[in-house]
Amino acid sequence: MYDSLLKKVNTAIERLRTFEPETEPYYLCYSGGKDSDTIRILAELAGVRADIVHNLTTVDAPETIHYIKSIPNVIIERAYYSDGTPKTMWNLIVKRHIPPLRHMRYCCSELKEFGGKGRLRVTGVRAAESINRKRNSGLVKIIGKPKTTLKIAEDMNLNYIISPSSSGGLILNYDNSDSRRFVEYCYRTTSTLVNPIIDWTDSEVWEFLNYYGCKANPLYQCGCKRIGCIGCPMQGQKGMQRDFEIYPTYKKAYIRTFGKLVDYYSDETISKPSSTWKTGEDIFNWWIGIDPNQLSFFD
Ligand code: SF4
Repeated sequence: MYDSLLKKVNTAIERLRTFEPETEPYYLCYSGGKDSDTIRILAELAGVRADIVHNLTTVDAPETIHYIKSIPNVIIERAYYSDGTPKTMWNLIVKRHIPPLRHMRYCCSELKEFGGKGRLRVTGVRAAESINRKRNSGLVKIIGKPKTTLKIAEDMNLNYIISPSSSGGLILNYDNSDSRRFVEYCYRTTSTLVNPIIDWTDSEVWEFLNYYGCKANPLYQCGCKRIGCIGCPMQGQKGMQRDFEIYPTYKKAYIRTFGKLVDYYSDETISKPSSTWKTGEDIFNWWIGIDPNQLSFFD
């Protein structure tokens, strides 16, 4: 392992040890992607206690589920509505009346990021993933109870940044005893994330995984750059089209679900991006970018 990476590994281990809760394990967010494999292995190297949790989205690729099940001690959780009905991508689309879009990713917060309330969460978020991540994330991010959190940060004389993202939040970029006390104090009542590999590059992640003999999710060998859900709008319409060539059963399930939106959009007073939405297939084609009558209402 190169010296520069070894240094980052030691720093990440130190970060994990610094913020480890005294009375309970970390809640380690495990998606089955390379970054979450990295934090999983780092937590083991650091000797910290962690519940490794995958939140089922109901549109995870079968390969991902298979891979996750091959990793020992992964807990699989799923989201529920308040009446106990399981939340799925399918009933969520019907409830929201719109497919998930790049700028309307309701599914992530409802299906993927719902877990770990009141727990200290560890994620594999990295600044190198995107400009947004770079701008809105840090070693520690605390969202929620803004006034109280800010007041405590001020009282403790902490050096913090306010996240410019719409969800707001406070970012800390150092791992000393003050930040540890602050995190310990806040995490039960806020959404607090520790991101030990925030400053790692893609190649460092791969070098680390190779060094520790982690084969990673097999989808990477099929050319996938990021592991998301089947039809995830974040990959762009070309990626969505490719997904549905590979997973035709999911294409049918989306079309069936979009068919349940047709009644809603038949109301003339409701705005819709395309006047040709007569069937679930019309909506599906619009969604993946092959609707010739498409207007730029949502995109
Ligand atoms: S990864 Fe994509 S499809 Fe999956 S929950 Fe998040 S935004 Fe939705």
